[in-house]
Amino acid sequence: MITTNRIDEKGNIAPLSILIATHNAFKVREFRAMAAGYPVVFRSLTDADLAIDIEEKGSSFDENALCKARSVYSITRDMVLSDDSGLVIDALEGAPGIYSSRFAGLLATDHDRMDKILHELRYESHRDAAFLCSIAVIFSSGEERLYRGKLAGKIAEKPSGTEGFGYDPIFIPEGQSRTLAEFSEEEKNAVSHRGRALNAFFIDIGLTPQEGARHGKT
Ligand code: IMP
Repeated sequence: MITTNRIDEKGNIAPLSILIATHNAFKVREFRAMAAGYPVVFRSLTDADLAIDIEEKGSSFDENALCKARSVYSITRDMVLSDDSGLVIDALEGAPGIYSSRFAGLLATDHDRMDKILHELRYESHRDAAFLCSIAVIFSSGEERLYRGKLAGKIAEKPSGTEGFGYDPIFIPEGQSRTLAEFSEEEKNAVSHRGRALNAFFIDIGLTPQEGARHGKT
């Protein structure tokens, strides 16, 4: 059985406390913004004072997300959510993919990674790409579930915008003329790969905004 919100004797819904298996402050900020209005409290590894350095050893977003969630669950036994995400570019045969954060070396900056991609695509007119996200959730019972989200788009000719993080300044979502870094946080979260995966999780466990989840899925 999946444990979701508890209701106290007065009928109030106790928020579901979920640990996010990341130290990435940008991701935590996005998760919190996306969960605004839902009866959920997200804690990061930093909030929980857990100095776990999680190795990503998998060969897919799903495997990496599960690997991160399992590393944390094995220590805390609390409900944990982790995401593994990245950019896949058609003309680069799916790169940087699961290597999105390490694509230009361990010490590289977001700026270096974007430069490398723009350089590799300098003569390329086919610039289709997508952001992919796998969210793994391990419930306090130990049950594991995966949720996925995708945002299709293309790689811009040059970086623009200052919002968001990572590859946002060079990614133009399908049907748009602005990069994700020119979207407001709210606009990005409404369409993003991470937003879609998180929404699939909320739907799966029957979590709705405001009035909250009265009964979890069993
Ligand atoms: P990981 O999921 O922490 O392994 O790293 C994912 C990497 O993919 C990040 O460091 C970013 O470079 C990139 N990435 C993932 N999601 C986004 C996003 O929403 N915007 C821009 N870049 C992203």
